[in-house]
Amino acid sequence: MGIDLEAMRRKLAKSKGGNNTFLTLEDGDQNLRILPLPDGDPFKEFHFHYRIGEESRILCPQKNFGEECAICDFVRALYESGDKKGRDGEGKADIEMAKDMSAKKRFYSAVVVRGQEKRGVRTWGYSKTIYEKILRAVLNPDIGDITDPEEGYDLEVNHEKVPSPGFNKTSVEIARRQSPLCDPAVGAKKCAELLESVPDFDMLFERIETSQAQSIMDAAFGGEKEEIVKYGADEEKKEKKATTTKKTKKAASVIDKAFEEAATAQ
Ligand SMILES: [Zn+2]
Repeated sequence: MGIDLEAMRRKLAKSKGGNNTFLTLEDGDQNLRILPLPDGDPFKEFHFHYRIGEESRILCPQKNFGEECAICDFVRALYESGDKKGRDGEGKADIEMAKDMSAKKRFYSAVVVRGQEKRGVRTWGYSKTIYEKILRAVLNPDIGDITDPEEGYDLEVNHEKVPSPGFNKTSVEIARRQSPLCDPAVGAKKCAELLESVPDFDMLFERIETSQAQSIMDAAFGGEKEEIVKYGADEEKKEKKATTTKKTKKAASVIDKAFEEAATAQ
């Protein structure tokens, strides 16, 4: 067997984005400072499909890069099938499954954790709710650019671990007072180094091709997928037929009514 090129590509992507570390929040309170990025947008948005087959997280080729995505296609077919109760009383209802599988937004910023500045810049992933809160602060003329190295604001983050995964609670407040990114004692040079060590967000997550998304789907669902998609198409046909019948009936009753009215008027 030759070299697995896909595996090599993955390794390269990992090693290029490699000098950054993802931040795992600690239980309780901690202060973070978001660093500005060279392109002027310190809050990066990505779309992921979660838990598809063996894959825990997949960067969606469609929502991130405008390419085709077999997972998104499948999600659409599931929505179109419109089955809320689940087929044959087995497994999850299609709509519910579609919601689980659809690409979800997540935001990422380069941060330092206060008190752990020596550990350098890390990457913090957060929800849309937190993103909106941060953005509101940035757009508030009384606050402004929270990432400004001289006159920005720290974030006061509270994190609460919940036993079931995916349900951890995180809340964020903007600090009341401005503060510099670096303590003056750190020195301008060291501080500039910190600003330069932000990760390359384009290399942060492994980008997958349309064909890879297809193989992931095939591995996860195999033949079952065709069945669901076909089922979806059949249901759609049935639905259309039902709507047409309804319309015809409605039209007929309008005519009946008109006749009745005409009869009464005479
Ligand atoms: Zn997708």
